[in-house]
This record gives sequence, structure tokens and C-alpha cells, in this order.
Amino acid sequence: MRIGILGAGPAGLYLAYLLKRRRPGWEVQVVEQNRLGSTFGFGVVFSERALEFLSGSDPETAAAIAPHLESWNDIAINHRGERIFIDGIGFAAIGRLTLLRLLAERARSAGAVLDFERHVERLDELEPADLVVGADGIRSLVRQAHAAFGTQVTLLRNRFAWFGTTKRFDTLSQSFVATEHGVFNAHHYRYAPDRSTFIVEVDEETFFASGFDRLPEDEARLVCERAFAETLDGHPLIANNSAWRQFPVIRNQRWSVGKCVLLGDALHTAHFSIGSGTRLAMEDAIALDCALAGHEGDLPSALAAYETARRPILEKLVGAANASGAWYERFREHMRLPPLDFAMSYVTRSGRVDRERLRRVSPGFVARYERGC
Ligand SMILES: Cc1cc2nc3c(=O)[nH]c(=O)nc-3n(C[C@H](O)[C@H](O)[C@H](O)COP(=O)(O)OP(=O)(O)OC[C@H]3O[C@@H](n4cnc5c(N)ncnc54)[C@H](O)[C@@H]3O)c2cc1C
Repeated sequence: MRIGILGAGPAGLYLAYLLKRRRPGWEVQVVEQNRLGSTFGFGVVFSERALEFLSGSDPETAAAIAPHLESWNDIAINHRGERIFIDGIGFAAIGRLTLLRLLAERARSAGAVLDFERHVERLDELEPADLVVGADGIRSLVRQAHAAFGTQVTLLRNRFAWFGTTKRFDTLSQSFVATEHGVFNAHHYRYAPDRSTFIVEVDEETFFASGFDRLPEDEARLVCERAFAETLDGHPLIANNSAWRQFPVIRNQRWSVGKCVLLGDALHTAHFSIGSGTRLAMEDAIALDCALAGHEGDLPSALAAYETARRPILEKLVGAANASGAWYERFREHMRLPPLDFAMSYVTRSGRVDRERLRRVSPGFVARYERGC
């Protein structure tokens, strides 16, 4: 079998590794437009049970990633000058670049061919692969080449810009501030001992009132630094392709068409506020690899099995991500709540956690909420 994978993000690289690990005789090629070592974004978090999704099926990759993780057990909500801790909600974070380097190294050492700095304009450039994998992210060429995928893309109205900072945060934090231009939210957490991710999100009104539609990137960054001066404590925001964007919610009616299949962000997105896109992309790769193994020599059945097994799991998580995204779309309204009610609204936003479950997971926070102070 010859496999052509478009995109060396977490989905494409991890799939290449898995395929070669199981079947050294297959030809697996990954084509990527950027060079290794240049990517958008800073750190990403693995939500909930961190690398548990890997440790059973691939303890070696989990062990390679683990030393690079920063982890913590609480979330902090900063609102109206108060800091509320929500205990028991653990996350682990890693630099996106570090993760991609590790995955590339593993794919290459398993024997996959990684072809960096090659932008693919037409799908036939990936021919004559027997299977073409669209791991090419939100603007997927593979997806756009086939109307039969039945793609739906909806843009959320809020705008966000992905920065980094040298400020080290103790825990994953959410800061909400009101300024003369409107309301600002930052999702911030450290992903390396000396670096943190700092994603700034604003509603549409604030976006235009702040002039983010016309300000050069550097000046917009300074406006954000001023809005979060207290949180940043004198540290700068660092830009890396930190343009203002609207989050695209992507769905597909079909996951494969002929010999083309999608995975990761090309197939689905999950709002970044639940910190799951990278894990989902890697889990898609695991599911596709397993489906191919279960139907050797029968590609249509393998692709159908991939979708059948994975879709229900994915839809559950994507439902939670949508609910979370919808909460952020209205964060200006939620900010009218006093800090404790605001924190409760935040932690229950995805609809997955009711009061009883929260009492078990976050006893400290629930006790404080019920005390009311
Ligand atoms: C602000 C923000 C914060 C996030 N935070 C988190 C987080 O905390 N935790 C988390 O798990 N996820 C997070 N995510 C989501 C995560 O980044 C994505 O879900 C993940 O990167 C998807 O992996 P992927 O491999 O499917 O796609 P990508 O990582 O987008 O990789 C696709 C690759 O394909 C390449 N490509 C595309 N088209 C072509 C072409 N024509 N020719 C050659 N190469 C091409 C691109 O250059 C790219 O390298 C966040 C996303 C955003 C926007």
C-alpha cells in the first residue's frame, strides 16, 4: 500500500508513525508546506486525563512526550479582581513545536518519508497513493476537492488571537477584564518552565471598538498587553502569526470519499476552550490505523469502519466543545454575574458536569460556592 498524507500536524505525523509501526512494508509519505520547526501557536493543553489515551496503546510515545509536559490540578478564574480556584480539574500542556518535533522524529524513525516545505496545490500531486489522507487542517485541500464530503463550516462571532508570554502562570487561568473598549478574555497557562500560552478573545463589539480590524498586528498586541497589564505583571506578549481570527466550526457528512479520508481539524474542530483538538486529531489517527488493520486489503470497509467506530465518540466531545464555544460567545453577559456565580457558570458551561459530579471532583470550590464567599 502507498499512503499519501497531506499535512504534518499532530494528525498526519502520528498516523504516519502508527502505520509504519504496524506495517513496515507500506510506503508512507507525509507532505507539509512549512519547514519542521515553524508552526502557528504556542503551547496546547491535553485536557482531563492527559496522555491516558496514549499510554495503553502506545506507551513509548506517551513516555517520549511525558517529560515535556507542564501539569497542574486547578483552574483559576480571575473576574472583578477576585481569583476563584476550581480544584480537581487537571490539565497538562506542551509546546506545539516540541510535540510536532517529537512526533516527526518518531514517524521518521519508523520509516515514514517526511517531505517538508512542499505546498500541495492539487490532489493529483499525491498520486499514485492508494489512500490519500487529508490531515491538512481547517482549510483542507483534500476536503475541498470533494463536495461529496458534505462540509459545513460555521464561523463563531468572537475574535481571538493566539499569543505567548514569558510570564509563568501557576495553573490554567481564565482572566476576564472590562476596558474602555469592551470586554476581554484571556486563556492562559504555562507550557514550558519559562513560557505560557496567552490566547486573547473578544466579542465582535470589542473587536471593532478596539480597532483590531485595522491596527497592525504589533499595535493590536500592545492594546492586549495594556488590557491585561495586571495579569501579565510587566511581561510582554509574544506574537507568532497572531492574527485575529474567528473560530471555524467544521463538520462533514461523510468522512471518506473514494480513496480520500479526513482526520483531525480537516474533519472536525473542537473549540479551543476545551483543549482537545490535538488529542482528537491523534485519536482519529489511532482509530484509522485500527480500522485499516481490521480490514486488510479492503479499503472501503476499513474507511467505513473508521467512521462507524469513531463518529459517536467524537460527536459527544464536539457537542461539549460547541456548548463551551457558545458560552464564550456570550461572556460579556456572563460577566455581569458576581465572581462565584460566574465561576459556576464557567465550570458547568459544556453541560457535562452537574452539581453532584462537581461536588465529587471539585469539593473545595463547591464548598466555597455554597458558603457564598
Ligand atoms: C487558539 C487555539 C488554541 C488551541 N489550543 C489547543 C489546546 O490547548 N489543546 C488542543 O488539544 N488543541 C488546541 N487547539 C487545536 C489544535 O491546534 C488542532 O486541533 C490541531 O492542531 C489539529 O491537528 P491537525 O493535525 O488536524 O491539523 P494542523 O495542526 O492544523 O496541521 C495541518 C498541517 O497541514 C499543513 N497543510 C495544510 N494545507 C497544506 C497544503 N496544501 N500543502 C502542504 N501542507 C499543508 C499545514 O501547514 C499544517 O502543518 C487550539 C487551536 C487554536 C486555534
